[in-house]
This record gives sequence, C-alpha cells and structure tokens, in this order.
Amino acid sequence: MAEKSKKKDILRQPMPEQEPDVRRRNFDEVPVGYTPETAMLEAQRCIQCKKPSCVEGCPVSVDIPGFIKLIKDGDFTGAIRNLWSRNALPAVCGRVCPQEIQCEGVCILAKKGDPVAIGNLERFAADYERAHGTGELPPRQKPTGKKVAVVGSGPSGLTVAGDLIVKGHDVTILEAFHKPGGVLVYGIPEFRLPKEIVAQEVNFLERLGARVECNAVVGRTVSLDELFEEGHDAIYIGVGAGLPRFMNIPGENLIGILSANEYLTRANLMKAYKFPEYDTPIPKGKDVVVLGAGNVAMDSARTAMRLGADRVRVVYRRSREEMPARAAEIHHAEEEGIEMFLLTNPVEYLGNEKGRLTGMKCLKMELGEPDESGRRRPVPIEGSEFDMDCDLVIVAVGSGANPLLTQSTDDMQLNNWGYIEADPETGKTTKKGVWAGGDIVTGAATVILAMGAGRKAADSIHDYLMWGW
Ligand SMILES: Cc1cc2nc3c(=O)[nH]c(=O)nc-3n(C[C@H](O)[C@H](O)[C@H](O)COP(=O)(O)OP(=O)(O)OC[C@H]3O[C@@H](n4cnc5c(N)ncnc54)[C@H](O)[C@@H]3O)c2cc1C
Ligand code: SF4
Repeated sequence: MAEKSKKKDILRQPMPEQEPDVRRRNFDEVPVGYTPETAMLEAQRCIQCKKPSCVEGCPVSVDIPGFIKLIKDGDFTGAIRNLWSRNALPAVCGRVCPQEIQCEGVCILAKKGDPVAIGNLERFAADYERAHGTGELPPRQKPTGKKVAVVGSGPSGLTVAGDLIVKGHDVTILEAFHKPGGVLVYGIPEFRLPKEIVAQEVNFLERLGARVECNAVVGRTVSLDELFEEGHDAIYIGVGAGLPRFMNIPGENLIGILSANEYLTRANLMKAYKFPEYDTPIPKGKDVVVLGAGNVAMDSARTAMRLGADRVRVVYRRSREEMPARAAEIHHAEEEGIEMFLLTNPVEYLGNEKGRLTGMKCLKMELGEPDESGRRRPVPIEGSEFDMDCDLVIVAVGSGANPLLTQSTDDMQLNNWGYIEADPETGKTTKKGVWAGGDIVTGAATVILAMGAGRKAADSIHDYLMWGW
C-alpha cells in the first residue's frame, strides 16, 4: 500500500529539451533524453498491470511492463534485450512512434492523469545501449544457403533483413538512393531523428553479414525476374509510398512551389542545411506556407524555420482535432513559432510576371458531415475568399505508390490505388516467391506498422525457404 501511494506521488518526468528560441534555428535534436536517474524514477510510475492495456495498444506487442521493470531495477542491458525481442529499431520508435494514440493512449494511468512515458523510456534504453553497450551481435543460426533480396531499406526492409539474417539466410538489401534508411534518412529531419542512429542500425545488419547495395533501382537497373535468375530464392518489396501528391489547382507550375518530399530530401539526405559544407540548392522562402497537417507538414514547416524563414504558416482545411501529426510535433512546431491556419483551403496559386509565386487565393472552410475516412468533411464557406501572401509553398498533402517497380512486373496484383495486394498475415503477394509490406501495401502509415509487416513477412519467408510453405 505504502509502495503504491509512493508511486502515485511521482509525477511524469518531463523530457529535457532545447529551448524553442535556440532550437528553431539549429538542426540538433530537440529532446535531450533522460538521465539514468530520471528513467528509473519514471519507470517507478508503472504499476505493472496484470493485463497491461499498453501492450494491446502497441502494434508489435512490446513487453512494456517487462522492459520498464528492468529499467526500474537499473538493468538497462536487460531492458534493451527485452525490447529487441519484439522491436528491431527501439531508438527510432522511441522517437517517432505516435505513442499518444498507441501504448500511452491506453495506459491505465492515462485514465486519471499522465500515462507512463513509455516512448521516452524506450528511447532511453536504446540510447544507453548505444553509448555503453558492448555492441555484441546476437547469435546467427548456421547458413541455410538460401538467398533473399530485400528491395528498399526503410523500416520494413531493415526489419525483414535483420530477422532473416539471424535465421541463417543470405540477405542483400537493394536501395534506390545513395544511402540506406528510407524515410528515416530522407524524410524525418535530423532534429527529430539523428541520422547517426539509423546509420548504426544499418551497420549492425552489415556486421551480421547483410549486404547493402545502394543506387540500385529495382524495376529499372534490375527486374524482379532477373533477381530470381541471379539465384535469389525469395524477394521482399518494401519500397514505401514516396510519390508526391499535389493540389491540382491553377498556378501549380509557378517557381516557389514544391513537394514536401523533394524539400525534405534536399534538406535531409542531401544535407542542404549544412551549406556551404554541402552545396545542395534548396529554396529558402522568407514567408513560407506548408499545405497539410501531418508529420510531413510539421517536419517541412520546422525545417523551413530552421533554414531562416521569417514566418511559417501551416494551412489545413480541417480543424485542430483532425490534424494527423503526432501531438508532440504540433506542440514543438507551435513552440518554435509556426502558425496554424486552420479551416483554410487554397484554390489558386498567384504569381508575378516572372512566373514566381507571390501568394495564394484561399477559401475559409467549415466542417460538415463525416466522410468515408470518418473525419468531418470540410465545406467551403460561400463568399469567404481571401488572398494570402507567401514566397514559398511546400505541399504536404499526402503521397502515393511509386509505380516504377510495380509497373515493371505484370504478374503481381495491385489494388485500385496502385498499392501491392499482399496477405495481411504473411505479406505474400500474388507473385510466387515475392512478399511485400510497409507503405507500399498499406499506403502512407507509420514506422512501427511498416516494421510489424516486415516481421510477419520474415517469418513467412523463413517457412517458405525451409519447408516450401
Ligand atoms: C517526412 C515524414 C515524416 C514522418 N514521420 C513519422 C513519424 O513521426 N512517426 C511515424 O511512425 N511515421 C512517420 N512517417 C511515416 C513513416 O516514415 C513511413 O510509414 C515508413 O517509413 C514506411 O516504411 P517503409 O519501409 O514501408 O518505406 P520507406 O521508409 O518509404 O522506405 C522505402 C525505401 O525504398 C526505396 N525504394 C523505392 N523504390 C525503390 C526501387 N524501385 N528499388 C530500390 N529501392 C527503392 C526508397 O528509396 C526508400 O529508401 C513519416 C513519413 C515522412 C515522409
Ligand atoms: S498500462 Fe501503464 S501502468 Fe499498466 S503496465 Fe502498461 S505502462 Fe505500466
């Protein structure tokens, strides 16, 4: 009883962060991380539920009370081993998972107060291991002689590769870009996910024996059938959903409008923010508008601020409640001075005689009945038209399936939107020997779902290679 009331007195431990005024102009990571003492204190808040709802809220069923108890007891190595048994990339997930709608959203403590800071504790265990661990590799089963090609090196591809390499298979990852990591390196900015962390995860796979071949665009430099002819016994496709979508409104060709995908790739993968060390051109607006309200929009807005904008506005046609970004990203963006222009929809881009963007014509919106996504449909308010000045628009209104690989393979079934049809339990596609998972199957989703799909597919591929199932 005394133990319980003591726990009740401990408040959720805040994550130390860089001050907003400082960080809005630098690319260093925003949260600084827990110390061992803070982590152990926070871990004490977990009441070790017999039926832990947090585990049900986790798409890959991490043993949350188990790893938290190990942190509480100061066994940080035990905690990371526990995490690794369900999640190959805890340093990544601790930073980018939408915990507020997953594990923390259903933590029993959330009913009457603040949930246990599960994400911060996961991140702590992973960071502690990186700083102090032995770097010891997990045991690898003896070679099976089976070869697997993994196409795409995002979180789903990395998970498949990691699972299959320890099962003794020969794994080659083929990546179109010059660096592996998928959205983790080309999309999510350094101030949210330091690239060193992703590089270390890839290095871990390489030390285990996986080969990583960059600049390999499957569907162009080599086809799936050619990969089989080269001796691969199975193929996993994890190519993501990186095809940018635009608004399709008049004026879209003006100079000063670009997709978030291109903007973030230039900033992150091609290190435009490290000018002049890296000579990558990137448009640096002074009065920037970002269209959309997901994580991609928040990352673009915060990047524009760091690249020197005077004013950054996020323009979204629904209300705050429907904003799909993680709560922490919206909070951080607002702290950094990003303005949210809600219930507003651009209908035309405006430009000058030189073909440069000068602004947007917009309509004010109100919310009507829910649409097929379950969210209330935005409806234009008659006569509400107004102009908004801006010199750079970054379009972050979603992305679609990149057809390059899928259209080069005519015996693999796609759905109406161009995503690959795959069995949700196994990841098997309609083409023999080929599995798929992550965003290229579900459409743009989350890191943890892409990893979960990778894990299921790796189990199925292993069964196929060993027993022909
Ligand atoms: C800016 C941004 C921020 C995000 N923030 C979050 C967040 O905070 N939390 C969260 O959970 N999710 C977030 N997401 C979503 C998340 O990153 C994705 O759901 C996840 O990365 C999907 O993983 P994936 O492995 O399926 O594909 P990806 O990560 O997209 O990786 C696919 C890889 O395949 C490569 N590829 C493509 N075509 C080929 C080809 N033909 N041959 C070889 N290689 C190819 C690509 O270059 C890429 O490296 C964000 C996404 C973006 C864009
Ligand atoms: S629901 Fe919350 S308190 Fe219960 S085990 Fe999970 S993290 Fe601990």
